[in-house]
Amino acid sequence: MAEQIRIISKNFEVPNAETIDVFIERGGYEGLKKALRLTVEEVVEVVKASGLRGRGGAGFPTGVKWSFMPKEPKKPHYLCCNADEGEPGTFKDRKIIETDPHSLIEGIIIGAYAIRSKLAFVYVRGEFGLGYRRLSAALEEARARGFVGQNLDGTGHDIDIILYRGAGAYICGEETALMESLEGKRGYPRPKPPFPAGYGVYGCPTTVNNVETLCTVPHIIKHGADWYRSMGTKASPGTTLFGVSGHVNRPGLYELPLGTPLREIIYEHAGGVPGGRKIKGVIPGGSSTPILTAEMLDTPMDHDGLRTVSSLFGTGAIIVMDETTDIVAVTRRIAEFYHHESCGQCTPCREGSGWIPQILRRIEAGQGRMEDLDLLLSICANMEGRTICPFGDAAAWPIRYNISRFRADFEERIRRGSGLPDPGPVPGVLGGRRADLIPVQVSA
Ligand code: SF4
Repeated sequence: MAEQIRIISKNFEVPNAETIDVFIERGGYEGLKKALRLTVEEVVEVVKASGLRGRGGAGFPTGVKWSFMPKEPKKPHYLCCNADEGEPGTFKDRKIIETDPHSLIEGIIIGAYAIRSKLAFVYVRGEFGLGYRRLSAALEEARARGFVGQNLDGTGHDIDIILYRGAGAYICGEETALMESLEGKRGYPRPKPPFPAGYGVYGCPTTVNNVETLCTVPHIIKHGADWYRSMGTKASPGTTLFGVSGHVNRPGLYELPLGTPLREIIYEHAGGVPGGRKIKGVIPGGSSTPILTAEMLDTPMDHDGLRTVSSLFGTGAIIVMDETTDIVAVTRRIAEFYHHESCGQCTPCREGSGWIPQILRRIEAGQGRMEDLDLLLSICANMEGRTICPFGDAAAWPIRYNISRFRADFEERIRRGSGLPDPGPVPGVLGGRRADLIPVQVSA
């Protein structure tokens, strides 16, 4: 069994770790001091060599992303920290911001230095009230001690940080929607290209990095790329915070090497399933990642491992569902979430994400037809890869994989027909109307 490692999580259980004195006592800001005395190129090279991959969902190599920024700035460069954590099942960034905000500030300043930026933004999820207060207080402390602002740690470098609070839209976690929102506009994703490294916030070169990613950087600078590569796998080095929720005895965050088998995370670290019940399915990386069946529990939890079972690492947020779980209801609930959060710009996403929960509610209420399952799959096929941003895929995948991997459950529900209790209207979806009674219009 892999031991839990304390790198990103080393201050999680430490009293008053959100204060600068405790943070510095425990080695905080040493990575920043070292980074500011290296050249920009050296910082980028160390992070590139470490193989650190973004922890926000896409898993893109961080050092490579930084290297896309122009080498000779003609316009201001910006770093945006994406702290708009909203993927259902994911709660790692919130924990970092609330308990260890200085580790994020340290990572942001190093990241900004690496991309030649003098100003960084933190886009904080609107619901993170405590986190926002802790981060604001930490920022003032860091500024007073010379780790943020002018002449950083006496090195002559100037980098400031601005906190910006979101207003609760899931889509603002998508990097281009985040930038639009930051500019004061509606959070509509932008078509790509142009990519943020060429045209980002206010039309200037921008890099967007996730909270956990940036918090990892100071440790890599301090201990080196080889140290980081000594953990995890070749393609996914290091550790990550696995957030385990659902039907487990000890839900929570577990910092473990990438590549730790899913079975070990669930049974050894999270204490197994209550009552010794069997597992029915596991969502491995947040609600948009394709579900795994109980036969796939030996999958290594890293980017390549999950690809072998046609799924994705996502945010490392593991949702465990035991054998009592109603997969039809789970699928319907996930579909309602994505319908509610679609920004509505693209027809396949706007319409498809609405039709899916309508059909699922009809099935759940015992009024489904066998052909509804292929109809759902056809709607998903018409969403995937046909939209401005990856949300269209994210909304379609859970439906497609839940049906393909648990088709018997859906067929059984349709065969049993009516007689099951109607789950009732869900606030915010279809205006609270009985969706199962609304005729489904799929063709134009
Ligand atoms: Fe908006 Fe959905 Fe299109 Fe993304 S895919 S831009 S969320 S409508």
